[in-house]
Amino acid sequence: MLETLTIRTQRTTASRLEHLDPEHIEFGKIFSDHMFVVDYRDGEWQEPQLLPYGDMTVSPANSALHYGQAIFEGMKAYKNADGDIALFRPLDNVHRLNASAERMCMPAVPEELFMQGLTQLIRLDSEWVPNSSGSALYIRPFMYATDGFIGVRPSESYRFVIFTCPVGLYYNKPLRVRFEEKYVRSAEGGAGFAKNAGNYGAAMYPTKLAQQEGYNQLIWTDASEHRYVEESGTMNAIFVIDGKLVTPALSSSILDGITRRSVLQLARDWGMQVEERKVSAVEVMQALADGKLEEAFGVGTAATIAPIAVIGYQGHDHELPKPAADAFSLRVSDALQAIRTGQAADTHGWMVAV
Ligand code: PMP
Repeated sequence: MLETLTIRTQRTTASRLEHLDPEHIEFGKIFSDHMFVVDYRDGEWQEPQLLPYGDMTVSPANSALHYGQAIFEGMKAYKNADGDIALFRPLDNVHRLNASAERMCMPAVPEELFMQGLTQLIRLDSEWVPNSSGSALYIRPFMYATDGFIGVRPSESYRFVIFTCPVGLYYNKPLRVRFEEKYVRSAEGGAGFAKNAGNYGAAMYPTKLAQQEGYNQLIWTDASEHRYVEESGTMNAIFVIDGKLVTPALSSSILDGITRRSVLQLARDWGMQVEERKVSAVEVMQALADGKLEEAFGVGTAATIAPIAVIGYQGHDHELPKPAADAFSLRVSDALQAIRTGQAADTHGWMVAV
């Protein structure tokens, strides 16, 4: 058990909770009442604070705005039928945040500071955690450089913030995706494994082009040959080929998704063969042609498990078979949901009570 850190708290005098309609929550638009804020200065983290959610000021010379020293995380808290709140694998997010921080020359956030800030924030805003089926509290920890200095070098000061927003049931309409064969999200040796802001900004234009062609998302391919699957949008990509779970092996250009990790673990628990290796677009299309591609889906915190219905490849669309009632993607989605809401045993110790 962590020692309780005393966090100076300024409560809001104008809660926006009454404006929340739990039955109609739009993703990412309504934010809970408070945020956790801590600054890094003179080589150390300063006094943390819980403040009313609100705007923050920055210098026009803020180096995050110019050179992109900005990183973030995405995670969720769930409320069970008894009203208890728990986080899903939060330490995995802390570790990934700090891996991103290292890549971007930013300071690590101590695990205890992150966890204390997060749990106290969620307790303060516990009424914002929805409990309708499929809903959760989305949590956005992030850090940005705060030096007002226009030279290109790592900032000496930073701000770490956590804010949250309730999210409703994610509408799992099967996706139309296409292989991207011109643009790349990240190259080997780049920063694709990190959640730095620049990766997301640079992905928007190719994604917009695909959306104009009627696709929901891209399947990114490798930077050198455009041959191997990387990820699908902001999800890791998983295929069921001939009864086996096949997914691209992690590399410096792929984000080490926590949902991916959890899905692979459950598949192994269920005795399924799991292959983490290079997966080429040709292999996927051949498996589809041979009737061996049983399922394809993206996995991530926001979308959870998003089945793929159509894959575009070299100008042609290919329809995937409809997942069977006992399809792996449906079973694993239900199993994860049951663990997260306390309806199934948490055998891996993934849930952390708030
Ligand atoms: N890939 C990218 C590029 C992402 O942004 C995300 C979302 N964090 C994922 C994969 C899925 O990761 P996770 O399961 O940890 O949400």
